[in-house]
Amino acid sequence: MNDENKPKIKRTPAKKPMGLLMRDYFVELAEAAEDPDGRVAWCTSVGPAELLRAFGFQVYFPENHGAMLGTARMAADLIPRANALGYSPDICSYLTTDIGAFLAGITPMSKVDERIESVPKPDVLMFNTNQCRDVQDWFSWYGRHYDVPVVGVHSYAGIGDVGDVHVKSIAGQMEGLVPELERISGTKFDIDRLREVVGLSRRCSELWKDVLDTAAARPAPITFFDGTILMGPAVVLRGDARANAFYEEALAEIRARVEAGEGAIPGEKYRIYWEGMPIWGRLRDNATLFLENASNVVASTYCNSWIFSAFDEKEPFESMARAYTELFIVRNDAYKERYIDEMVEFFSVDGILFHDAKTCPNNSNNRYGMPERYAQDKGIPTLVVNGDLNDMRLVSDEQMKTNVEAFIEQLAERKAG
Ligand code: SF4
Repeated sequence: MNDENKPKIKRTPAKKPMGLLMRDYFVELAEAAEDPDGRVAWCTSVGPAELLRAFGFQVYFPENHGAMLGTARMAADLIPRANALGYSPDICSYLTTDIGAFLAGITPMSKVDERIESVPKPDVLMFNTNQCRDVQDWFSWYGRHYDVPVVGVHSYAGIGDVGDVHVKSIAGQMEGLVPELERISGTKFDIDRLREVVGLSRRCSELWKDVLDTAAARPAPITFFDGTILMGPAVVLRGDARANAFYEEALAEIRARVEAGEGAIPGEKYRIYWEGMPIWGRLRDNATLFLENASNVVASTYCNSWIFSAFDEKEPFESMARAYTELFIVRNDAYKERYIDEMVEFFSVDGILFHDAKTCPNNSNNRYGMPERYAQDKGIPTLVVNGDLNDMRLVSDEQMKTNVEAFIEQLAERKAG
């Protein structure tokens, strides 16, 4: 096929308003860091951001910054700087990329708006170990550097059902942070403000779920790669009414595509579920690879991770505890398989791709036989691709292409048979 006849990647819906919203958010962070009365908190991506917002902090998410660095393909130059401090090349490449960028004095946020010179200086750093221990070590490095408090929630791992015992313990830890946050922010805790923020986050989560669920349509109006872009506000602005307004607008545009029968992939034939981290430095390449094979990666665990159905303003602490503990990453394999089963059915998936991200074992669910169980016991074709979220030295483009093409041939034979 010559280049002119090759299918082109369709524009991500609502990309422009999203870019403007994200720019405003980054500028507000920079301004708050410069303002003597401003307060900035750093938070892990699935940490209790609602609590921080209720105290009036501007909330910055280093993982979002890590993903921006990955997308900008800056990781290979930056990671060695963190390695030189003793942070292993085998640990989270968000951590090593982000600390490497800090040491190099660069940030991709400067490209978004020239007023931004650096990451915003924090007044406090808040982690939740629900996803991994790396985040605590990551934040502790900055806590030492800036000499500011590092506070956090220590979560469970590998749990099946989330019970009252889990919720009480995590809610208690979150409530226990209040006096310290009052001291740092200089603001008295207001439970009504927290209820309001939790309500906004709940609405954001519902809208984000609605956006992702549109991909159940045939053909699907969006791809996983669109989702990795559109998820920005759900990650960094949940609890802020602007995120909700954005998703209302995006949803209208995406639903119009569904009504017009307009798919993100022309001639969509195969539908795939992506389990694991995105490969940030290869988003466009991978989007093109699936496009050229008439396949749509319609859904993913990753994008779904910012759906927090448990938020309830009537019980702000308990519902935050439940929402941030019910996450896929916190659960055992039996739960994870039940969850993926539901996704396979809801999105009419033909096969599952497992991304084994070298530096994130926490989000690599292929390592204890899950793909084999799907293929052998459930008859669902699976593919494992080796790579990484940020460190592109761990990605083989040739292998990815060969493996994906062979996988799609397998799906075609299965459909034909
Ligand atoms: S879950 Fe993985 S990618 Fe996320 S911070 Fe932890 S190690 Fe890094």
